[in-house]
Amino acid sequence: MAHVVIIGGGFAGVWSAAGAALARGDASLRITLIAPNEHMVLRPRLYEPDPDLAKVELSRILGPIGVAHLRAHVQTIDTDRRVVVADGQETGYDRLVLAAGSALVRPRDLPGAERLFDIDTLDGAVRLARHVRDRPDCPVVVVGAGFVGLEAATALAARGRVLLVDRSQAVGDQLGPGPRREIEAALDELGIECRLGTTVTEVGDGCAVLSDGTTVETDTVVWSAGIRASALTRQIRDDLDHLGRVPVDQWLRTLPDVFAAGDTAAAAFDAEHTVMQACQHATPLGKVAGYNAAADLLRLPLRPFAPGPYVTCLDLGAAGALFTRGWDRKVMASGAGGADIKQRINRAIHPPVDDAERILAAADRVRVELPFFPRDEESAAPGV
Ligand SMILES: Cc1cc2nc3c(=O)[nH]c(=O)nc-3n(C[C@H](O)[C@H](O)[C@H](O)COP(=O)(O)OP(=O)(O)OC[C@H]3O[C@@H](n4cnc5c(N)ncnc54)[C@H](O)[C@@H]3O)c2cc1C
Repeated sequence: MAHVVIIGGGFAGVWSAAGAALARGDASLRITLIAPNEHMVLRPRLYEPDPDLAKVELSRILGPIGVAHLRAHVQTIDTDRRVVVADGQETGYDRLVLAAGSALVRPRDLPGAERLFDIDTLDGAVRLARHVRDRPDCPVVVVGAGFVGLEAATALAARGRVLLVDRSQAVGDQLGPGPRREIEAALDELGIECRLGTTVTEVGDGCAVLSDGTTVETDTVVWSAGIRASALTRQIRDDLDHLGRVPVDQWLRTLPDVFAAGDTAAAAFDAEHTVMQACQHATPLGKVAGYNAAADLLRLPLRPFAPGPYVTCLDLGAAGALFTRGWDRKVMASGAGGADIKQRINRAIHPPVDDAERILAAADRVRVELPFFPRDEESAAPGV
């Protein structure tokens, strides 16, 4: 029987599995998802005070739609033999979907790097949440004032002093000038101190040394600067982009027998942009890549990847949230209105469970209308 293998059990992998099951219908086709984790981790919720809630059992999604789960970590992809090796076990494939996601780039040469915290993984976020719970008064240093660092800093401000450090001269530099004024106002409101044009040069026992020569007393330094696609991409192709992603065509194919989705795929969003490493894009990418991997074997027409409008929603803790639209990130809602949208998004990114019909129906919806969008607009929102 022909075999679709999917590497990764995050947004892209899970929705690839559902997309492949949708294309399979009643046809005879084996689908296997390989991922080490028992849960799908909802990474966008890892800044929350109880990150352990940000997960969904994979068996409740894969079981109902007839997808096997091999709990293992892939070390090798042999595209000539069409085989992946996971924890010493070989699995052959006819079509492969690479959806192994991304990981925080950890500073290799930073003295004391082993003391850093992060909210990149479930384990990392749980470790940080437990650590700060036991130290209510200790100041926290957050390194990186990008999307993740801003959410970490504003969430941690609820419990005490936070210092936000970034190499660039502006907060949210990668988000552009669109939302900057609102972000700066929120940081002021929460009493978060910003040190721009600065980074951490050493993490000591109870202190962080900054590149401006100052030393901050802290035993909590959260690193959130930069993410990169899984190193498995290097086993597929050499021509990776600056985020380590493989190029894909509009069907999300990267090699004749290999598709890619989520944070590993440099898919075109439009003539100017590639997709973001965001669950907003990982979800529809997964749906299309998985569908196409199965459709290709079953000789069905493939689906082109056609994302909806680009939106973001940045949680700013007690200062609410910012909902932006377009690549200039024009602010559409802020404060309590933005927070309401963020809560709805954080609920919407949970995939349906236990119900094959609902899971497959969701896999079939790549662009959907959302309650929080103006009525005449259509969007592929984060995770939906
Ligand atoms: C704190 C935080 C906040 C975020 N906020 C937002 C947000 O507000 N909006 C938004 O759109 N995005 C947000 N993101 C980004 C979003 O979470 C990612 O883009 C999304 O998770 C990517 O999905 P993915 O499936 O490609 O990868 P991942 O979620 O990284 O999943 C990868 C999967 O592959 C598995 N895997 C990895 N290596 C292997 C291997 N060798 N073998 C087998 N399995 C492997 C992993 O175990 C995991 O199951 C946020 C991320 C973080 C960390």
